[in-house]
This record gives sequence, structure tokens and C-alpha cells, in this order.
Amino acid sequence: MLSTMQDVPLLISRILTHGSTVHGTSQVTTWTGEGGPQRRTYAEIGARAAQLAHALREDLGVRGDDRVATLMWNNAEHVEAYFAIPSMGAVLHTLNLRLPAEQLVWIVQHAADRVIVANGSLLPLLAPLLPHLKTVEHVVVSGPGDRSLLADATAQVHEYEDLLAGKPEHYDWPELDERQAAAMCYTSGTTGDPKGVVYSHRSIYLHSMQVNMTQSMGLTDRDTSLIVVPQFHVNAWGLPHATFMTGVNMLMPDRFLQPAPLAEMIEGEKPTHAAAVPTIWQGLLGELTARPRDVSSLTQVTIGGSACPPSLMEAFDELGMRVCHAWGMTETSPLGTVARPPAHAVGTDEEFAYRLTQGRFPTGVEARLTGPGGERLPWDGEAAGELEVRGPWIAGAYYNGPDAEPLRPADKFSEDGWLKTGDVGTISPDGFLTLTDRAKDVIKSGGEWISSVELENALMSHPDVAEAAVVAVPDDKWGERPLATVVLKEGSTADFTSLRAFLAEEGHIARWQLPERWTIIESVPKTSVGKFDKKVLRRQYAQGELD
Ligand code: ADP
Repeated sequence: MLSTMQDVPLLISRILTHGSTVHGTSQVTTWTGEGGPQRRTYAEIGARAAQLAHALREDLGVRGDDRVATLMWNNAEHVEAYFAIPSMGAVLHTLNLRLPAEQLVWIVQHAADRVIVANGSLLPLLAPLLPHLKTVEHVVVSGPGDRSLLADATAQVHEYEDLLAGKPEHYDWPELDERQAAAMCYTSGTTGDPKGVVYSHRSIYLHSMQVNMTQSMGLTDRDTSLIVVPQFHVNAWGLPHATFMTGVNMLMPDRFLQPAPLAEMIEGEKPTHAAAVPTIWQGLLGELTARPRDVSSLTQVTIGGSACPPSLMEAFDELGMRVCHAWGMTETSPLGTVARPPAHAVGTDEEFAYRLTQGRFPTGVEARLTGPGGERLPWDGEAAGELEVRGPWIAGAYYNGPDAEPLRPADKFSEDGWLKTGDVGTISPDGFLTLTDRAKDVIKSGGEWISSVELENALMSHPDVAEAAVVAVPDDKWGERPLATVVLKEGSTADFTSLRAFLAEEGHIARWQLPERWTIIESVPKTSVGKFDKKVLRRQYAQGELD
């Protein structure tokens, strides 16, 4: 028997219409570096999104599921593109501006982007790529930047504001199929070609509702969220959509992502929440230690993308910024787990340990652990295996062109359709995930596994250590052994012997797991989204550069 409920498709245009009317006075504030921030209400964003959609359709001829890419920082115009492009039925393709040029070219060609909306400040990056981007017919430029860099472009160049000027502030958004593609994002391709993940209207809608749950980020229209995680990194973890549902104000840093301007933004604009990967917070912590600021407004910080070191959580707690750890990936939209301690642990000794886990699975994310032989492992907090997940905002395949069968590589999808995350960990009986490592980073020493993350966390809790990354290196006797690469704080005199002793005593690391190979480095190489780039370290070691 069918229900008697209305069958209203879950569309991005509905989130836009809701946000720009019900929460019309909420604001997107964009940092400009000089002359004060730019402020725009949700009502204005809604009107401008309609104008952008008119321009894309009428002036640029965007039709059907054409891909419209963005090469942009986090700012109001990017939010407008986030809503206009999918709402009109086209597909928003966010480009990661930190990828190497050849990967960007590959990705644009693979997605067959017809239009790129770019920030003027990124034209030095875009201009040399353009001759190689054969599918791109139009470039729309927004914000300050040297337009003469595009003088030789064969694609047509347009000014964002000129396109919008005079266009109607209302658009008759089409009733689309909610399963239709709304946005796409490529994984950064640490091995092989990048892989395209295509989100649907339905998946984004449901994901945004979960982001807003009290057990997840739980923000309201009294909050202002400093969205540092880039809009090109898994849709800024769903925040621009989620905030439009609840009227949370957005504070967008644009290109000012260095610790000093971030501290200035927090002091000046008083956000209550912020979201970013750990490396951003490590930088901010250094800045606040060197030059204390009033950051008392910021009481909630969401950290994900890589494991949050306990030392960072403690330091932020002391500053009054409560860290909420979360796990996810491009393929999971990204919200996969959020570490909100269960009621019985709040206020007890167990609370901190719960907060350090990757978090609890919310409704909508089903999880299972698979052992090396394919066996299902129990949720007992002990058995470690590869995490597999399933749910309405979890990818079931990768994009392989508009008319081709989607890709379902066997190392990424199980035969029964679950996503194999490549992350190794345990799950407690009450559904808290603890990751010990990524399958490709775990150190396999003499048939036992050593967690690189555990060693890193222990090292980073040493007062003289700024950053530490541990990678597996080949070893004749044991197969692999850990190599610890350490960035020392300025003026520190710590040496290997003292760090090793610290790991054994304070870090409670078993003797056989202690690294015997060490090296001091200036900084840990980072990926395009600010995570430790262990493949670079492994390569440097193989080339004898880390001895
Ligand atoms: P990339 O593979 O380029 O890093 P993603 O942003 O999709 O792209 O990264 C997803 C991966 O990041 C996860 O599979 C996991 O290994 C890691 N990750 C994300 N959040 C956490 C976390 N809180 N703790 C540990 N690892 C995390």
C-alpha cells in the first residue's frame, strides 16, 4: 500500500527559497582584507542566484545538465553559484584550486565543464590552463583581479556583475527529479586518476538536514559559522546548504586563510562556530599563543578531514573553544560520524575519550567492519577492520562520463554495494568509530600493525613538537618500520633520545612500536586540502632526502 503523503522532490531550489524568505535577514559576510567586510542578506543572495541563473541560461546558453565549474574561494558569489547552478537543473562542479595544473586540466575535461565561474584573484592560476580546457566555452570572472591575463583566451570572458545587472530577481525553478545530479566533486587522486563523485538534490537535502541535527552541528539562526573548510572540499562539509535551512549566518574568509587574518576575523566578526581541518587550527593556535586576541565568541569548532590530535583538543578547550571531532570523505558528502559523547559520559572521565573518537554514526549512515579475509567483525570496540558504509548520501559509484556506466572499482565498492572507505578502525557497541589508520598508511611490521596516527598524536603531545608525521618505510627484517618526521617548535632542544623516551613513558607506546628512524624537518608537506601528504614523505625517503 502506498502512503497518502505528497511526493515533493527534495530539491536545492527549495532550500534556496526557504533560506531567502524565512531566513531572509540572515547574512553572508565575506572578508575582503581591506575596506571592511562585504555583507549580503540571504534575501539578496536568493535574488542574485536567480539573476545568475537567468544569465547562465539566457546569455551563456546553459541547458540541461551542463556542468558549470567554480574556481573560487569561500565567498558570497560562490554561495550564489552553489544555489543557482543546481536549482536551474545544471551541475555545479567545484574545482580544487590547490590541485596541480595537470590534474585540474584532467578533471575539467573529464567533467566536460562548459563554463567556469572564477574569482579574479585566481586568474594567474586559470589563465595558463585555459588553452588546454577544450570543453570550456565561457569564463565568468568575479571580484578583484587582473582581467588582462585573459586577453588571449578563446573562451568568451564575462564580468560576473555585468551578467547579473538588470536580470529578474525571480526564477521559475524547474521541478526536477530529486535523484538528478546537483553537484560534483573529484577526490584528490592520491593514487591513479581523480574520481568524480556526483551528489544528487536528494542526497544534499538529506545530508544538510543531518548536518543541522543537534547531535551533529546543531546550529541555529543565533549562530555565525566561520566556514574555513573550502567550498571546493566536499561542499564545505555541507555547511552552505545546511545554513540556508536554519538561517545560520555565514562568515566567509575568501582568500585570507592565514592564521593572522583568521584571528582578526574571529575577533572582529565574533563567529560562534567554525569548521576546518586540524592544520588550520594548529596554525591559529600558534598565532593566538604569540598574539592573544579576544576569541571568546567562538565556542564550537568542528574538526575533521584528518584525526584531531588530543593536544590540539586540549589546547582549544583551554581557550574556551569546544572541539567537535567528525569523520567523513568526499564519497560520504562528507558527514559520516560526529563525536558527541553519549549522555551517560557527559561530565565524567570518559567524556574526553569519547570526544577523541571519530564519532558516532548518525541515522542515515549504516556501518560495518570487514576483516582481512572479508569476514564481518563485531562492534565490540576491539576488533579492527576496514570500515564500510551505506546510506542515502554515500556514493555508490564514480562518474564516468554522462553516457557511460558509472565506475564501481572492486577496491572501493563491495559486491553488495557498500562503500569501502579504506579506513581501518574499531566500532564500539554504542556506534562510536575509532580510526586507527588509513589502510594505505598503516605500518605493517613483522605481521603486526602499527598505527601511524597513534604515534603522531603521542609525538604531538610533546611540548617541543609542532607537528609530526609517521610513515612506513621498507625494512629488511620486519617488512616495514615507522619513520617519524618531526617539526620542532622554535628554540626547542628536544632530541631523538628524549622524544623516544617520551613516547614510551608518556605516550604509552609499546617498545616494539617505537620508531628507530627519525628525522627533523622544517614542515610537513600538505595535500591540496591541508592534510599531511604522506606520499611525498615516502617519496622523499625513497630518494634519500630524509636521512
Ligand atoms: P582525500 O582522500 O583527498 O584526503 P577526502 O577529503 O575525501 O579526500 O578524505 C577522506 C579521508 O580523510 C578519510 O577516508 C579518512 O582517511 C580521512 N579522515 C577524514 N576525517 C578524519 C578524522 N576525523 N580522523 C581521521 N581521518 C579522517
